[in-house]
Amino acid sequence: MPKLVVAMTGGIGSGKTTVSEIFASLGIPVIDADRIVSDLLASLPIRQLIRRHLGRGCLDRQGLINRGFLRQTIMADPSRRKRLEGILHPRVWQSIENGIKKSDAPYCLVVVPLLFETGQQHRFDRTLIIDAPDYLRIRRLRHRPGWNLQHIRTMLSLQVSRRLRLSLAQDRIENHGTRKQLQDQVEKLDRFYRQLAAAKDVQDSFGVSSRAS
Ligand code: ADP
Repeated sequence: MPKLVVAMTGGIGSGKTTVSEIFASLGIPVIDADRIVSDLLASLPIRQLIRRHLGRGCLDRQGLINRGFLRQTIMADPSRRKRLEGILHPRVWQSIENGIKKSDAPYCLVVVPLLFETGQQHRFDRTLIIDAPDYLRIRRLRHRPGWNLQHIRTMLSLQVSRRLRLSLAQDRIENHGTRKQLQDQVEKLDRFYRQLAAAKDVQDSFGVSSRAS
């Protein structure tokens, strides 16, 4: 089990996926909360639960999740949002815990796009934010197929502000330069996290417990 678990967050389009790929190329296991949610939404038992608790309309004719409808319905109705979170969140955290336990790297990275929105930062040893100015994020997102300005604004409105996120995270990667600059920052942080993990190893061997269970 890794000595250090780092949560990575950042606004949509800030570069989380790109940064994860760089960490992965350095041999660091990456667990992605969004991917876990997608896998859960694709599973039959979860689709059945969602239909029971949020209504038939959340599924399409094939019985698959109608993501657009689901997003709209939870935005319009906070009680439905709570119900959906009640179904997904405990399972997502369980899956993240399992993923962490399986890994034997010195540290691992968990990508949690809504880390501060869900108030779950206490679960991790460190928090890392990928930051980019809003104009750049919007410009990047406009290249995504099917993403118009209105959709981008809606997605941005669901997330905490850049300023709040910056004030909450311990570590930061600035992604407003070139890919090479991004790579350099990740490599530097990788060295730092490896040092922190090694220091914890030493603490543990002196009988000081360093990870909350
Ligand atoms: P997120 O996962 O946070 O939504 P992505 O990593 O998918 O963000 O990045 C959004 C888009 O911006 C992607 O198309 C990605 O290739 C591009 N991108 C990210 N960082 C850079 C960079 N430093 N230079 C150029 N393009 C970038």
